[in-house]
Amino acid sequence: MNPWKELRRIDHEVYLLRHVSSLLGWDQETYMPIRGIEERAEQISLLETLIHSKIVSPATREALEGAKEQLDEEQFATEIGGESHVRPFTPIQRAAFLREWDRRVARASKIPTSLVSRMAYATSVGQAKWAQAKKEASFELFKPYLQEILILTRELAGALGFRETPYDPLVDEYEPGMTCAVLSPLFEQLRKDLVPLFREIVSASTVDDRCLHLPFPKEAQEEFGMRILQAMGFPFERARLDVSVHPFTSTLGADDVRITTRYNPTYFPTAIFGIIHEAGHGLYDLGFGDEIRGTILAEGVSLGIHESQSRFWENYIGRNKAFWTYWYPILQKEYLKDLSLVPFDTFLLSINRVQPSLIRVEADEVSYPLHIILRYNLEKALVEDSLSISDLPAAWNDGMVELLGIKPSHDGEGVLQDIHWSMGSFGYFPTYALGTLYAAQFYSSLLKDHPQVLQEIEQGKYGTIVQWLREKVHTLGKIFTAEELCRQITGSPIDPGYFLRYVREKYLHRIS
Ligand code: MG
Repeated sequence: MNPWKELRRIDHEVYLLRHVSSLLGWDQETYMPIRGIEERAEQISLLETLIHSKIVSPATREALEGAKEQLDEEQFATEIGGESHVRPFTPIQRAAFLREWDRRVARASKIPTSLVSRMAYATSVGQAKWAQAKKEASFELFKPYLQEILILTRELAGALGFRETPYDPLVDEYEPGMTCAVLSPLFEQLRKDLVPLFREIVSASTVDDRCLHLPFPKEAQEEFGMRILQAMGFPFERARLDVSVHPFTSTLGADDVRITTRYNPTYFPTAIFGIIHEAGHGLYDLGFGDEIRGTILAEGVSLGIHESQSRFWENYIGRNKAFWTYWYPILQKEYLKDLSLVPFDTFLLSINRVQPSLIRVEADEVSYPLHIILRYNLEKALVEDSLSISDLPAAWNDGMVELLGIKPSHDGEGVLQDIHWSMGSFGYFPTYALGTLYAAQFYSSLLKDHPQVLQEIEQGKYGTIVQWLREKVHTLGKIFTAEELCRQITGSPIDPGYFLRYVREKYLHRIS
């Protein structure tokens, strides 16, 4: 058996199985009848176990080790002949493919199966308890379950191994290569500069955003959203838009990406910016290059880079004056006639309103990273055992006052608002802020590469942007690391200065 050929075969099988799992997950969040959940959970868990055992199997390790020795891609090309799903790689792609498989096998092998199943159980019960606790605003109800999940999370970090802090192997799951040695100073600089800047912006502006609360039926919002998607080049023969409680993007195949949104009939920004955000994720997953199609490399580099794509579209394009120069007259004339009395500037200020808010998912683009810094500091302290679960709600409230200047009136709008910890996803939150920072940095490069792009946006044309993102980010998939990609596109590593300059320029000089 040719080990390289064998590894490529296993790789493609895992790729397909993961998409099957995504399909089950997507269906669960959109169309599955409520009582289907029990068997669905079993189906997904079985499939995940199969995928895991395939990854850690002796056959896979053998193929991986053999493939490293075997470097003749040309011979491989002739051998695979007409098998269309596998294409020969360039040397760089081949090295990246082996790097990713090394990483995948190494991580999966370190986690004992018993820990996987204990974690699956604890988080499945934990999520249900969290939902109840959030509804009743009772942290006490969730506390013992969070405690159990945290104990397992520490065990997981120990199994994966770390040098400096048990938080490192956790964040590495979502943002490969990222460590606290980079994150902590990055977030500290961001906090120091952003807190006073945020206060300055809030005190400099008073915005009456009543125009966003006009009645706007769901069907009309959807039609408007679809028009924006079409203009963005979102290909409906390869993608769908559906409804779910929490918006998400799910990739079910190389030519099958599903995005969702939710509709609020008296606050349309929820759906419209949600659609633009998810379409940013969707375009990424639809843009991987042909040579890496159907392989481990046909994935986003990291969650931070993935989020950079969604935030790029949602905030840097979608909340841009140029964007609404084109869409506002259409919105006024064809969808929301009541807006004809609202001046453009009022509308623009409304969709860019900056204010202290309690809920992360509703936060404006300026204060958003502060919500993440709070979560990062707390979850890192929990994992490192320098903060106890009993002290968590008070620490949350203190952090909110310090960073955003407001205090939740109950834990439902405070420490209980996010699902992540109940899912055991410690280390996930930082990727949201990293996405924001990457997006600011990429946007600055786009403007340098294509100074005319704002005029194109004013005409509702996004071809240059899509082409640029495709070339710089999408087609490459996982070939480069996040750090390499960021340097290639912007000439420097991740740097919060871009985001801070963008915020200062937009909110203190241009539109206020
Ligand atoms: Mg997102």
